[in-house]
Amino acid sequence: MEVAGRCVAKAHQAVREAARTGLTTIELNEVAERVIRGEGCVPSFLGYRGFPASICSSPNDVIVHGIPDLRRLRSGDLLSVDIGAIYEGFHADAACTFGVGELSSEASALSATTKKALWAGLRQARPGMRIGDIGAAVEAVARPKGYGVVEGYVGHGIGRQMHEKPDVPNVGRAGKGVKLRVGMALCVEPMFNLGGSATRVDPDGWTVRTADKSLSAHWEHTVALTPDGPLVTTNSALVDLLEGARSC
Ligand code: MG
Repeated sequence: MEVAGRCVAKAHQAVREAARTGLTTIELNEVAERVIRGEGCVPSFLGYRGFPASICSSPNDVIVHGIPDLRRLRSGDLLSVDIGAIYEGFHADAACTFGVGELSSEASALSATTKKALWAGLRQARPGMRIGDIGAAVEAVARPKGYGVVEGYVGHGIGRQMHEKPDVPNVGRAGKGVKLRVGMALCVEPMFNLGGSATRVDPDGWTVRTADKSLSAHWEHTVALTPDGPLVTTNSALVDLLEGARSC
């Protein structure tokens, strides 16, 4: 799982270095797939329930599950990229949101706040805490800003399958829900919208958008509760450095 996590972090780093105005998201998909296979891993998403690509690329009002296509990235796009990889049967899964070219201050703040909520949720992912503690911590970051918190799509357990029990909602009540214990691995993945929380799915059956066409951001990490403490397997200091350079 650690190897899969490092691979996902590397693929994210490569995608963020490659992303620029004029490039298509199909080209970003190729960048990620090259890194994943180069690390000896297999893309989790490719073929998952018929999904046709190795990354989800979700620009602007797309919340999650966008399919890479031939649309060229434009300056000001807020792009969320979600990547999963499998190593020796174990999965890792992470998403980040960043700006292409010049990003509006609204978009930049939305992404930064969603990332802050991700880490607020991850800090709750410790043995003895409960799933509701994660959702409550995530939600508490969004509410003062007035952002819509997506409730129809949630984080999840992860391991030999990409999506395992328990669900990890982005809202919740502290002290409620499944108790966390050593040996569990979870994906925490807040999705915040500039507008309301309602969603709709495109006719392709995958692309999830905000119903009111407002911008959306999505951040995700895989955390494993090891006997030595929680390990965020998909984290990368390099991605954080790049993030500073790209102001989101
Ligand atoms: Mg996930």
